[in-house]
Amino acid sequence: MPGISSTKPMSMLVDVAIPNTKFDYLTYQTDLELHPGDLVLVPLKKKIKYGIVISTNVSRSIPNIKEVHKLVEANFIPIELLNLYRWIADYYVSYLGEVLKQAFPPRVLKKFEYVRKDYEKSALVKEPTPTYHQAHAINRILYSIKRNIFKVFLLFGVTGSGKTEVYLRVVAEVLKNGGRALVLVPEISMTPLLLKRFNERFGNEVITIHSGLTEKERRHAWYGIKKGVYKIIIGPRSAVFLPISNLKVIIVDEEHDHSYKEHQQAVKYNARDVAVVRAKIENITVVLGSATPQIESYYNAGMGKYELLVLKERIDSRPLPCVEMVDLKKERKKFISSKLEKAIEEVLQRDEQAILFLNRRGFAPSLLCPNCGYVVKCPYCRLPMVYHRAWSKDGSSILSCHTCDYKIDFIKICPNCGRATLLYRGAGIQRIEEMIRKILKEKIGPAGKEPADYVLRLDRDVARKRGEAEKILQRFEEQKAKILLGTQLVTKGFDFPNVTFVGIVNADTILNLPDFRSGEKTFQILTQVAGRAGRGEKPGTVLIQTYHPEQYSILFSQLQNYPKFYAEEMKLRKELNFPPFSRLVLVRLSGKNEQSVWEDAKRVCKLLDEIKGINIFGPNQSFYYKIRNNYRVYILIKAPLKFDHRRLKFLRQIKLNRTKLEIDVDPIDVF
Ligand SMILES: [Zn+2]
Ligand SMILES: [Zn+2]
Repeated sequence: MPGISSTKPMSMLVDVAIPNTKFDYLTYQTDLELHPGDLVLVPLKKKIKYGIVISTNVSRSIPNIKEVHKLVEANFIPIELLNLYRWIADYYVSYLGEVLKQAFPPRVLKKFEYVRKDYEKSALVKEPTPTYHQAHAINRILYSIKRNIFKVFLLFGVTGSGKTEVYLRVVAEVLKNGGRALVLVPEISMTPLLLKRFNERFGNEVITIHSGLTEKERRHAWYGIKKGVYKIIIGPRSAVFLPISNLKVIIVDEEHDHSYKEHQQAVKYNARDVAVVRAKIENITVVLGSATPQIESYYNAGMGKYELLVLKERIDSRPLPCVEMVDLKKERKKFISSKLEKAIEEVLQRDEQAILFLNRRGFAPSLLCPNCGYVVKCPYCRLPMVYHRAWSKDGSSILSCHTCDYKIDFIKICPNCGRATLLYRGAGIQRIEEMIRKILKEKIGPAGKEPADYVLRLDRDVARKRGEAEKILQRFEEQKAKILLGTQLVTKGFDFPNVTFVGIVNADTILNLPDFRSGEKTFQILTQVAGRAGRGEKPGTVLIQTYHPEQYSILFSQLQNYPKFYAEEMKLRKELNFPPFSRLVLVRLSGKNEQSVWEDAKRVCKLLDEIKGINIFGPNQSFYYKIRNNYRVYILIKAPLKFDHRRLKFLRQIKLNRTKLEIDVDPIDVF
């Protein structure tokens, strides 16, 4: 109605972003006095939707322009945060509507009255005296915070060197001066120690955002944070979106951890990188902490983009564990070598504790017919199905596809030839558990305690039951069990002082993935697991079982030498032109119709071929080619660092035959 609008006084055009839409913004007309960051109601396709004003006084001629319905709340989010959201949309080649969907908890835009709950004050604990290296790091970080400038620190400290104490001191000082702190952690349930120490030190100043919160609790937390009720916000990757006023420092603990990367939703951001950009926009300090920094972070430190702070020693000068290797090629027993068996026995004799690590769930990774060679595979993904014992409550076993989660009842006889009993190949963590129990029974004999009391298993299957993971960790901490057998879940920041031995049952599980990061991932996981040993007063030992003892990432994790690993890894990255020497963008296409997925992929490739200066690889079958009947194909773009990958946004507008197209900038997995 352009004729009517011209008669209204002071009318202006505004751009409004609307959560959960596939566009950046729509332009509306209004005679309200609006500003960027305001929450408004606007009409969209016969409905009224919440939206955020992103710019005002727009001069653009738009036919049939609609009017802003209502101003809900002025200054709903600060302009800096809005700029961050816009940066994310740009950088990750996505739409602002998609970013807003991921940035706000569900229904947070509905009207909400915040009422402060009362919390009990906890008894605060005494602070330990920092070591020389800790004190240096604390001083450097605080100096930067005081100057109110943008700065990134990489806090590189060996496992057990006391990074958390540095965080605590820095945060304490920030609070003293009226500031707020954001602490990002990889997975809340897996970082009980860090949470405990923050809660002990700061009591009810801390709020923890985690997946166990209800929708209502989440909204309560969001508004509480916005109002400045909480001073320390601890949360997983999505906490980087929170509206925190007077934010002075962002800490990213275990910055190398892959759970900082969003894999599922449309905007595939990395919270560590977003934290750095947020700090830049708000002119504040970031601390990235790790014992095994991501290659790119250590490179940035080397280039002077980040300041490197090193914690060389474990606290109280405790030695790093001594690491030994077992070459499985030379062993008769392929799953638990005699050396590993002996080490476990010795731990029990000394009445100490051990952690055993195997990154493979279930009892056996596949079932094979000895008669016809048939392997039971998932009908949707064509990958071997994993045998899980005693899966259901009634104790029955199943076969499960670890890619799409498809499950069937356990089958004993080969369904192909019907003439033989299926055999299991390889060992998952359940099978290792059974073997350990058997060994213990032999060693301890019938007179001893039941081996069941000695061994605990922690993996995603056990952790399915809510609160079970915490229960297991507590039992182990109270030394009610001697051996903790776990998958990747046990690599995170735990601290069990009585653990003197760590056994890595098979170091090769990650190494075999077809990915340029597999060496880095292997080094990180091995070093992190090994770092669980000898954190108390007793020294620790580590045993790594592998078929590839000469492989550099395994070798340098044995030596616990990150700089040497880094040097070797960088040679490879340079030779193959992988990050940090180039930028990667992965385009994934998937759909139910195999032929049209490939046709679409080829079309996309053709369009990409016209862009000068970049290298295109593919289309290729993804490592997991068929998941849930979806065929998956990828195209890898390798571009020089100066290439502006935001140009690729046109890909999102191509009309495809029911094929889903996703863009992953700086991907973690390339397969
Ligand atoms: Zn499957
Ligand atoms: Zn058969």
